[in-house]
Amino acid sequence: NDLQQLEELDKKHFLHPTSPIKQQQESGPSFIFKEGRGIFLEDYKGNVVIDGMSSLWNVNIGHGREELAEVAAEQMKKLAFSSCFATYSNEPAIRLAAKLAQLAPGDLTTTFFTSGGSEANDTAYKLARHYWILKGEPEKKKIISRTKSYHGVSMGATSATGLKPFRDFSSSIAPDFLHVDHFNTDALREKILIEGPETIAAFIAEPVQGAGGVHIAPDHYFKEIRDICDFYNILFITDEVITGFGRTGEWFGMNHYGVTPDMMCFAKGVTSGYAQLGGVMLSEKLHRDFSNFSSGTLLHGYTYSGHPMACAVALKNIEIIERENLVHQAKEAGEWLRKGMKWIQSERKIVGNVRSLGLMGAVEIKNAGEANSKGANPKSPLIVNEAAKRGLICRSVVFDHQDTLVFAPPLTIQKEEIEKMIAILNDAIKSIEERS
Ligand code: PLP
Repeated sequence: NDLQQLEELDKKHFLHPTSPIKQQQESGPSFIFKEGRGIFLEDYKGNVVIDGMSSLWNVNIGHGREELAEVAAEQMKKLAFSSCFATYSNEPAIRLAAKLAQLAPGDLTTTFFTSGGSEANDTAYKLARHYWILKGEPEKKKIISRTKSYHGVSMGATSATGLKPFRDFSSSIAPDFLHVDHFNTDALREKILIEGPETIAAFIAEPVQGAGGVHIAPDHYFKEIRDICDFYNILFITDEVITGFGRTGEWFGMNHYGVTPDMMCFAKGVTSGYAQLGGVMLSEKLHRDFSNFSSGTLLHGYTYSGHPMACAVALKNIEIIERENLVHQAKEAGEWLRKGMKWIQSERKIVGNVRSLGLMGAVEIKNAGEANSKGANPKSPLIVNEAAKRGLICRSVVFDHQDTLVFAPPLTIQKEEIEKMIAILNDAIKSIEERS
């Protein structure tokens, strides 16, 4: 039948991203999804599961929005593609850049478009280095990022990523990428002084570290970071690829901290995954400096920079977020999620810390470090399997001796749906607790 055929073809021909290669080859896909509606996904076997991760932290407005399909079709019929190279332009890209300027923190007013978050990160690093070349300081080229960070998988973004297994996977550490302990501002100061501020182009951070395990910075942290970067003349870049477009209960993660970076990377929630789009926003000052100091060509651009269909989809996605007040909804739903996680913490003895900001949440399983260092298997991957059997998709993070479950449901999630998610999670943890 169809399903068997698909499973066989998948095993034989499809190398999945971030996949357990051997297991995928042997067992095939765990779900082949067919349809999505709201917070739910349905597979070919008829299983309906809650998409507790918004797929890859990106389907912010939920699945099955026909309005977006219509906008994409209309734009494709009218103008599926034209280039934005040099002086060419198109209306959706122009209107989206203007809309982003309205929404973004502070004076981030100009956008360079990419097709995703990794490209956005590489663009930010290259623009930062180019900026210092224009300013007559070509030695300022080092990029500092943090432990537990994730910035993508292109060579630059992998090099900046703090999670070491990603860098070790293909010996992908480009020169001039350095890492400091996350949340430790003294470590950053020290690193800058050891290396020399005249060698450092930029510092990059996620407002909330997502793939690294939902780590939320202390309140004062980013103000201090901004001061350090200003003092040593270093550009400050935020990676809002996950935290942008309402995920944390504000339009952007940095709104929680009242700090404006010099550049901001975004992707994912800008289209809620309905089309491939990302970008980097530049402050007005940076943009002005670029045009004041440069007489040459901006020798950086992707074929799909400013893709008209993707930009049209983004505009409609943002319109829906505004019309349905989803940023506020995420804040409110975030409170229900927090309460639910606290309840699980009180019910389940293997649960340690819980933390969340808006609709990014994490539940730690206790004694993970000790268990991992003894070579014992972490429990969170088993819990993820149990949750999936019971109808909930969530994720486990085991990097850096962690043993943590993370969630990021669509911003549209309703109270009773969060309650269902929490009940499933509690059952899944209980089943593993009883086995240990
Ligand atoms: N930056 C952050 C913070 C991310 O979470 C991700 C992806 O998860 C990326 C960058 C890379 O984005 P993409 O997978 O679209 O290249």
